Amino acid sequence: MKAIAVIPGKPNTTHMQDAPDPAPGPGEALVRVLRTGLCGTDGEINAGLYGQAPAGSEYLILGHENFGVVESVGSEVKGIKPGDYVVASVRRPCAECFNCLHGRADLCTSGKYTERGIKGRHGYMAERYAEAAEFLFKIDKGIREIGVLLEPMTIVEKGAAEAIEIQKRLPAKPRTALVFGAGPVGLLAAAALRVRDLDTVVMSKESDTDARAQIAQAMGCRYVSTANSPLDDLGKQMPAPDIVLECTGSSAVAFLAMRMLAAGGILCLLSVTGGDKTELVPAAEINRDLVLRNNVVFGSVNASPAHYRLAVRALKAAQKKWPGTLARLITTRLPWTEFEKWFGREVTGIKTTLEIGS
Ligand SMILES: [Zn+2]
Ligand SMILES: [Zn+2]
Repeated sequence: MKAIAVIPGKPNTTHMQDAPDPAPGPGEALVRVLRTGLCGTDGEINAGLYGQAPAGSEYLILGHENFGVVESVGSEVKGIKPGDYVVASVRRPCAECFNCLHGRADLCTSGKYTERGIKGRHGYMAERYAEAAEFLFKIDKGIREIGVLLEPMTIVEKGAAEAIEIQKRLPAKPRTALVFGAGPVGLLAAAALRVRDLDTVVMSKESDTDARAQIAQAMGCRYVSTANSPLDDLGKQMPAPDIVLECTGSSAVAFLAMRMLAAGGILCLLSVTGGDKTELVPAAEINRDLVLRNNVVFGSVNASPAHYRLAVRALKAAQKKWPGTLARLITTRLPWTEFEKWFGREVTGIKTTLEIGS
């Protein structure tokens, strides 16, 4: 079969090649890939910043944001049948840590987990893949157009769900939320908060007339363009938020967000910031305010099977509340043979997919 692969650690080596056809075992399904989503992770692996080939392989098949249709199932597979639309999760457990052994590879403590398309396992930019049924999540026909957004949705669902879980320490329920960043993750975060009926503000650098702003507004969010205000004034633009999801990829914004929290408020950091940038911050003031306001700041990565199920529910709820709105996140659908256009930065827009099958 054809696949898009990279030589990990070597910049700009993404290429199309032949790869062995998957051979599913009795507990696995054979899935035909319909499309994959592209994100910063794919770009950073192509840039050689990280990425790891499976043991014994020179190359890594890329792709973690996926959507496909089941072609056949092994004799031991239950709950999934040929013709079902599915999304496969990304992370696989290590063999030693307590969390992985209890179904929470997203909270792996050994660091020896693997991730399809990223770390030690081939990804989904291929005609087909085989996977155990426990790692596959069914997508209803009603959300098949946005099924490829499920994986990034799981990231924000975990962030939102854990923030709300932590917030249960307070008698008061969270009412107001703030999302920093209006990229795909930020807009999905806004959707996750709005389906939970939180008053949500989205702050991002794009102008008020940008498509990102319009999508946020279509979901009932208030949009504030940071282009027009000095960063230090942003706190004056809204009541202090109970929950903040940081999705910009900027460490400076993470510290700014700490200063904007309401009393009892919670900040969830979702950006894996690259590089080794240093930042001058008012450390004593930030520390004092976090203490005096009983704030919680936590980081979150990846997602558990429960979050995949929550994300399916959230996509369905969003589709019902704002039909067609999340589909507007997918601004470019490239035939997968034209992958170089995205890696070569010829494509702009919110989310690009590679159309692999039909
Ligand atoms: Zn991604
Ligand atoms: Zn582990």
